[in-house]
Amino acid sequence: MTALGDTLALKWSDNQESYYQLKTLRDACPCAHCQGEPDVLGKVEKPRLKELPEIAYEIKAYELVGSYVLKITWQDNHSTGLYSFNYLRQLPQV
Ligand SMILES: [Zn+2]
Repeated sequence: MTALGDTLALKWSDNQESYYQLKTLRDACPCAHCQGEPDVLGKVEKPRLKELPEIAYEIKAYELVGSYVLKITWQDNHSTGLYSFNYLRQLPQV
């Protein structure tokens, strides 16, 4: 896993490589705060996209949680998003 400028490169166990723009990853942050939580009726209201400061799109740290989840800590200290590998594979790549 390597962060190059505004791109994150991931190498999968099958040796394929994927490149993601950091902005794509942050905007797709899967945590409840960014994607909204279902209400009592199960409807998910997605919070309006706020203007994020530029540092919100920079990676401060990342770690693997278990074997299939990537946890990213952003420079604005947002770190609740857990990116499963399945989820990452569905995201648009560079
Ligand atoms: Zn989030």
